[in-house]
Amino acid sequence: MDMDIYLTNNLTNKKEKFIPINKDNVGMYVCGPTVYDDPHIGNARPIVVFDVLYRLLKNKFSSVNYIRNITDIDDKIIKSSQEKKISISDLTSQVTQSFNEDCAFLNCKNPSHQPKATEHIKQMIDMILELIKNGFAYENKNHVYFEVKKFTDYGQLSNKKLDELIAGSRIEVSDNKKKSEDFVLWKPSLENEPSWDSPWGKGRPGWHLECSAMSKKFLGDEFDIHGGGIDLIFPHHENEIAQSRCANNTKNFANYWIHNAFITISNEKMAKSQGNILKIKDFRKKISGQILRLALLSAHYRQPLDWSDKLLVECENTLNKWYNVYVSFDDKIIISYEILKPLYDDLNTPGYIANLHSLYEKAQKGNVEDKKLFISACQFIGLLNETKENWLDYKRDKISIKESEILALIEKRNKARGNKDYKKADNIRNELFDKGVLIEDKDGKTIWKFK
Ligand SMILES: [Zn+2]
Repeated sequence: MDMDIYLTNNLTNKKEKFIPINKDNVGMYVCGPTVYDDPHIGNARPIVVFDVLYRLLKNKFSSVNYIRNITDIDDKIIKSSQEKKISISDLTSQVTQSFNEDCAFLNCKNPSHQPKATEHIKQMIDMILELIKNGFAYENKNHVYFEVKKFTDYGQLSNKKLDELIAGSRIEVSDNKKKSEDFVLWKPSLENEPSWDSPWGKGRPGWHLECSAMSKKFLGDEFDIHGGGIDLIFPHHENEIAQSRCANNTKNFANYWIHNAFITISNEKMAKSQGNILKIKDFRKKISGQILRLALLSAHYRQPLDWSDKLLVECENTLNKWYNVYVSFDDKIIISYEILKPLYDDLNTPGYIANLHSLYEKAQKGNVEDKKLFISACQFIGLLNETKENWLDYKRDKISIKESEILALIEKRNKARGNKDYKKADNIRNELFDKGVLIEDKDGKTIWKFK
């Protein structure tokens, strides 16, 4: 039986067996948010996808060091703080808090560390000094640039040829750079912008450098997995590789590059310019995070996911059904490899959800061991983490009744039936139905379900 995890590695464009550098401590870095605006549903996808990968790795390896950064210094942040007329520190702390609340809402485990860029400026300056010393970077007028043509492996991840990149570049060469393809490592700040002292004057780091410096601090020069959205492959991840390998003098940086695809809305890309941005925060008031999580896992992470109200209704119906077999228990249930297999095969979450449906079919026949297995398998990917009472509380608006009240009414109805007062019994059944609750008499017992 093959029990290895396979992942599609964008560095080699192949599905490969995952072999960590150190099986006792797996390292994973995922690019976190730039905290200039509240996260939207497109940002939620990598959060949930890499949370499932983290859970899978933790289940197999004794220790996993999962790092997801917060970019709290960037041009977008400066622009947004000016537009919103609030200070940069207020903006970044508000958005970071909102992001953390979104992660909790989506039932994601906290990463091992969530480093902030502004707390690692020294590491960034040190890395630039190394790059200059090694001949890969140059300074001009308080700017420092990475000289792309010096790094012959540039373009390996994004399958871009360096020559074509240089020849095809239409970006105007700025006064300060030698070549248009060179990218900034350090730049001066304007008077009202945040700045730090450096050997090149007061200024701030380039965005790409932040991830190279923070991954080095927490995971070392070479580590196992680097993840992020597909839009980050070029130039962000390409530049991270260039900086890290050239500063650290290594042949490799991250061994496996994993990227999630976009979320579309009615098959269109979600973008501010399209006016179709759905913020996670707005969902928090309306629906359970469980529904969002199931929806986000309903497509394979490498496939685009088309978001719609229909998808959310389907996921809510599925969860209603699943919560009907909910039981609480303390024993730890081992989930067999047979059940987990789709996840081992490149994190195939739709395949795993199909297995959950089969387990549910068994569970609803009433055997408590089957129920426990089903619930444990759901919880493995962060679903069914609420008690039935919590789920009911959430559904309160729709069914306007508490579980204790349902049980009291069922008892009242059974008494009425015992007294052969069938009219009263029917009235109670109808009362529950109007409140969104369906009752069924089975094997001399009465059970209830969401309508
Ligand atoms: Zn990054």
